[in-house]
Amino acid sequence: MDPVGVAAAPDAGPGSAWRSKCPWGAPNTTSISCSLADVMSEQLAKELQLEEENAAFPEVVAVDEGPFITGENVDTSSDLMLAQMLQMEFDREYDAQLRREEKKINGDSKVSISFENYRKVHPYDSDSSEDEVDWQDTRHDPYRADKPTTTPRRGFVGKGKDITTKHDEVVCGRKNTARMENFAPEFQVGDGIGMDLKLSNQVFNALKQHAYSEERRSARLHEKKEHSTAEKAVDPKTRLLLYKMVNAGMLETITGCISTGKESVVFHAYGGNATEDKVIPPECAIKVFKTTLNEFKNRDKYIKDDYRFKDRFSKLNPRKIIRMWAEKEMHNLTRMQNAGIPCPQVVSLKKHVLVMSFIGQDQVPAPKLKDVTLSSEDMKKAYYQILNMMQQLYEECNLVHADLSEYNMLWHDGKVWLIDVSQSVEPTHPHGLEFLFRDCRNVSQFFQKGGVAEALNERELFNAVSGLNITADNEVDFQAEIEALEKMNEDHVQNHGKKLSMFSSDGDPPIYDE
Ligand code: ADP
Ligand code: MN
Repeated sequence: MDPVGVAAAPDAGPGSAWRSKCPWGAPNTTSISCSLADVMSEQLAKELQLEEENAAFPEVVAVDEGPFITGENVDTSSDLMLAQMLQMEFDREYDAQLRREEKKINGDSKVSISFENYRKVHPYDSDSSEDEVDWQDTRHDPYRADKPTTTPRRGFVGKGKDITTKHDEVVCGRKNTARMENFAPEFQVGDGIGMDLKLSNQVFNALKQHAYSEERRSARLHEKKEHSTAEKAVDPKTRLLLYKMVNAGMLETITGCISTGKESVVFHAYGGNATEDKVIPPECAIKVFKTTLNEFKNRDKYIKDDYRFKDRFSKLNPRKIIRMWAEKEMHNLTRMQNAGIPCPQVVSLKKHVLVMSFIGQDQVPAPKLKDVTLSSEDMKKAYYQILNMMQQLYEECNLVHADLSEYNMLWHDGKVWLIDVSQSVEPTHPHGLEFLFRDCRNVSQFFQKGGVAEALNERELFNAVSGLNITADNEVDFQAEIEALEKMNEDHVQNHGKKLSMFSSDGDPPIYDE
């Protein structure tokens, strides 16, 4: 619409120009008297300002106050906005349908799937009665802040017949468009400013009301979402994976959660039917690696430097890296299984969900070593078993556990079982020996405190496991030698493109005299 100077036609307010252009505009009987003298009046400027504020936030709808705010007015320049509002209504209807389908599919199945990601707007009932906007709430409205810059205090700009008051329809319309920027970010307003969209107050008010109720809806949605994630412990995609496992008959039922850690959630399940190529254990543990990425960031170094995964690591997105943790645990468990080390047996791996045999019985997981009180005889037995397992792990599996402690050893069937090997690395990992030393320290301390007189100290244990012969008699020097060895190996890899034979797993005696 063209800018209309109010002074150009003294007998016509800005509304008359608007009415003459709008085919549906109902003739407005009320018109404000707007002579040049009035425009110049400081008093009128103030009044108009007040009116505009009232109009923008009509606690009492000010239909009679301005020419653009009559009940029947429809602003043709805002077809797009109206279309968007209609679209939202349509989307909500679509979602309601989706919800009905979701309900039908899930029935009262133990594992449910969610169509949440397919929803357009709001995945819950749109009972909007409580969503009525509180028009008093103008805290975040840019209106006040904008005013001094857009229209001078005297209430108009320009000279003579080009004079334009802040009440001018075009200015107002542009201002309204700009104000839409203040709606919640999820509220798609489009580039109204770019296309010089002018919103009448009426349309703006309707949109604002809509935006506020949308905002409240999504706040409620968010609450619900968080609540349900905490309740079910897994996201919808994971639930779908679990659902498929039950559906395929691999699992009978998923009974509940055994553990919620920072990086994983572990569930108990009863195994389903055996297939031709696989016997499913009667009880299973399902380890779900959490797809919230934060916790895994500090574990980067375990996998980034593991040459088995090195090439792939750089090419992967974070979601895939998490799958790799699950994959790593599977490979490591398989190696251990092959070496005869007591550990969970891998049943299946699907994305970030690893199913393995359950260590424990009748849904009760075996206690961690830190939680059982063993007789001194059992304690001693456990110690020697662990010493043995660490050596096997190193020599036969070519692995260092890297998180070995009384927290990751279970006591079951009169022996120790190793679990939680997603972070385990090969000894040639740039920090592999440091990880091993840390493992040794944990084990030594636990058994020395536990009264096993025969327990080696951490340095002796390290040498016993690795076959290395580091002679330093204090911890600091010992660690320095370990790091020097790691560095030597790294340099060797850099220079020769392969590892030192001391680290090879083919049984060669260690060489580190280069
Ligand atoms: P996290 O990285 O969270 O420590 P873990 O693999 O250690 O993951 O598993 C967490 C807990 O879940 C363990 O401490 C143990 O109590 C239980 N758990 C894990 N795997 C099994 C299993 N196969 N059988 C029985 N309990 C298990
Ligand atoms: Mn653990």
